[in-house]
Amino acid sequence: MEEVKTLSLVEKDQKNIWHHISPFVEEKPAMVAVKGEGAWLTDHEGNRYLDAMSGLWCVNVGYGREELAKAAYEQMKELCYMPMTQSHVPAIELSEKINEWLDGEYMIFYSNSGSDANEVAFKLIRQYHQQNGEPNRYKFISRHRAYHGNSMGALSATGQALRKYKYEPLASGFLHVAPPDPYRGAGNLSSEEVSILRAEELEQKIIWEQKETIAGIIMEPLITGGGVLIPDAVYLEKVQEICKKYGILLIIDEVICGFGRTGKKFGHQHFHIKPDIITMAKGLTSAYLPLSVTAVKKEIFEKFKGQEENWHFRHINTFGGNPSACAVALKNLEIMEKENLVERSASSGAFLLKELSHLAASHPNVGDVRGLGMIIGIELVEDKTTKKPVPAEFIGKIVQECKKEGLIIGKNGDTVDGFNNVLTLSPPLSCTDDDLSFILTVLKKVLAENNYI
Ligand code: PLP
Repeated sequence: MEEVKTLSLVEKDQKNIWHHISPFVEEKPAMVAVKGEGAWLTDHEGNRYLDAMSGLWCVNVGYGREELAKAAYEQMKELCYMPMTQSHVPAIELSEKINEWLDGEYMIFYSNSGSDANEVAFKLIRQYHQQNGEPNRYKFISRHRAYHGNSMGALSATGQALRKYKYEPLASGFLHVAPPDPYRGAGNLSSEEVSILRAEELEQKIIWEQKETIAGIIMEPLITGGGVLIPDAVYLEKVQEICKKYGILLIIDEVICGFGRTGKKFGHQHFHIKPDIITMAKGLTSAYLPLSVTAVKKEIFEKFKGQEENWHFRHINTFGGNPSACAVALKNLEIMEKENLVERSASSGAFLLKELSHLAASHPNVGDVRGLGMIIGIELVEDKTTKKPVPAEFIGKIVQECKKEGLIIGKNGDTVDGFNNVLTLSPPLSCTDDDLSFILTVLKKVLAENNYI
């Protein structure tokens, strides 16, 4: 009788699953995770790893929270589904809570993902201008090196050429400007001077493109996945001034920076700005369930009120605002408040940054270490004078070596040609002191053992 071979989990995975943004290499199978607890993951062979990326910058309260599982279970029993053409209790309570965290009065539009939330922002801004007597405003400006999502509009706003290459042409009307990159600067300009210069270039772009055609500007408080590029405080304030001057709406993408990640409730709260629209996802539920939000200033919503034909926002989403996802988000925010995780993010992040900053002096390839709250970037260069980036392969090697030591870190992979040279950390905000020490020990050891010459 012919022997029937039982496939291993890895073999079944490789046979059936097409993985996200990863080349298929048979000898480098995907990690099959089976359990998560706190900051730690266990794979199917029993190996343990500290996940210093919180998945994709999202498991803010850490893995294995029973209260979140219970919140989902209880809500599913009570009411598993209700489309957001109507309403339900967790959605109402969560909208109030988000406004409390935003310290504002926004209308809350629910979707499932960060990309969805940004698509909503683009669509409603175009419609807003049409209904506000300015139908020529349709263009959006965003920054090179920033990521805003995978769908055609959000990808068009994305400024990472390698995420768009071979998928073009994308949606029309999306323009890009350079972000402030204090490390690479421009000549010998200070961080503040670079930020001012980049804001001036943004204004120039608006004028050259015909100011009455610009509908909105979208940016993260700091560029995260594109290489952790942190502007000087003056930058976003200038951007907001420019938006006001030209009647342009400002969207702040808080998909990563929101919910304590940067050491404040929202990343934009580090600056003196009040965005017109704020998009959020990831940390909203700590990724226990999919949920995203487009928070829209009440003045904008006013333009959609009434019965006039085709006047309301004609956008629908089957799963957006799912009751269990909203219940989990509420419980997630309760945990963050109870455990002071926003404050913990600020102090843990400052500790990591201080400890890692020494590497810039001691390691031949560490050009810059920067961060805000629990987001840290370590930029590796071949030569500190020329700042020539190390190749992506070297960055990949560091990530792999850390993994062998039980530490998962990230990198700004597949962003823009030649500049995929930043290691990233985005650990759970709930990391213990021992977790933080483990991250530092492994990272320092691996870097000490690996130089790029
Ligand atoms: N915006 C930013 C800043 C992101 O980092 C991401 C995803 O990483 C998105 C939007 C898109 O979110 P999603 O993957 O949930 O669609």
